Amino acid sequence: MHSFLGVRTALALVVAAIAAGASLLLNGDAQASLVVLVCAAAAVLIAASGSDHAPASPISAMPSADSEPAIAEVIEAIGEPLLVIADSRVEAANQGARELLGEHVLGEDVRVAIRHPAAAERLMRPDDANPGAPIHLVGLGTRDQRWEMRVRTLGDGRRVVHLIDRTGSYAAERMRVDFVANASHELRTPLASLLGYVETLREDAGDDPGTRARFLKIVFGEAQRMQRLIEDLISLSRIEAEKYRAPDKAVNLPELIGQVTTELSGSPRAADLVTHIADVAPVAGDPTQLSQLLHNVIGNAMKYGREGTPVTILLQPEGEAMVRLTVSDEGEGIPPQHIPRLTERFYRVDSGRSRSLGGTGLGLAIVKHIVERHRGRLDIASVVGKGTTVTMVLPVRRVS
Ligand code: ADP
Repeated sequence: MHSFLGVRTALALVVAAIAAGASLLLNGDAQASLVVLVCAAAAVLIAASGSDHAPASPISAMPSADSEPAIAEVIEAIGEPLLVIADSRVEAANQGARELLGEHVLGEDVRVAIRHPAAAERLMRPDDANPGAPIHLVGLGTRDQRWEMRVRTLGDGRRVVHLIDRTGSYAAERMRVDFVANASHELRTPLASLLGYVETLREDAGDDPGTRARFLKIVFGEAQRMQRLIEDLISLSRIEAEKYRAPDKAVNLPELIGQVTTELSGSPRAADLVTHIADVAPVAGDPTQLSQLLHNVIGNAMKYGREGTPVTILLQPEGEAMVRLTVSDEGEGIPPQHIPRLTERFYRVDSGRSRSLGGTGLGLAIVKHIVERHRGRLDIASVVGKGTTVTMVLPVRRVS
């Protein structure tokens, strides 16, 4: 664009020179011609310098009718919120930005449009030494959302503000940190108890056979608790590691349920088990994981159900392509506010009760991951005082 204006200026100066020459030829007055030349050249230079004040960029140097739709169209094609800022005003905002900040942001001062102190401070520093460094914004959009804001300055001085939603990765990172802290705490508790009893046994208490037997029983129980926890942790990490590999063995659920109920026949509430098993097509599954799922869900119904009330296992087809498995108990039920969190690792409604019943707090988290790996659905419904029903819908294996 600069070279184009330069050529025009040069041409105008040539025309001015020709005009001065013509004036000399026609009037024969060198002084008048010199005046014509100087005035024409001055006029051309003033006009050219006026043009030189126009922005240098090809986009903004063009008439706004041509440039704005072009940049607005480009940013509209991008899903994440994007704003174009010119002289601190929002010149363009894509749909993502309008949804996040409001339709009114166009033309607004960017500090008003984004309405976040850290963002405003960053945007008021166009000469930032590190313009690409992102800043993190909390409180933009909904209260829990976390955004990363990146600012890039274009050649013509306009700035592009890019907002990236980091809520998911922030939550995942927090969950990972919480998980490590919780797992360490859950392991440390039985370990501290183990060490305490072993220490006491090494001293005087070990001499008395009655005390020794009682302490050894506790030590054994705590060691078993640690073992269950470690086994559940290993299961969880195995299932997670395989989450993108859909299981494909043909699993006969009626047979598997039969095996699991036989394995549970030694438990105190075995007599309460009631099964209604329809003849269903085999599901595409991992038999070990599905057996673990059954143990966890039926085990919970037996643990948290009321003594002497039925624990009902129902298996039936769900259309042509799915199989529905429900396990119901008639226990105390679960208050509704806890239900969405039951599949979180280590989440328990009543920690003391769960621990006294040998729970690790990981059973339903494992169930959720197994159902997800099987491309199925999990639903937990409960009525306080009446009982709980856990439903799992799993896809049948396609015969190709
Ligand atoms: P836990 O090892 O503690 O049983 P789970 O992950 O299997 O852990 O279950 C999480 C929590 O959900 C339990 O601690 C318990 O409070 C609640 N829960 C699970 N199943 C039932 C049920 N059938 N009835 C009542 N509460 C249940």
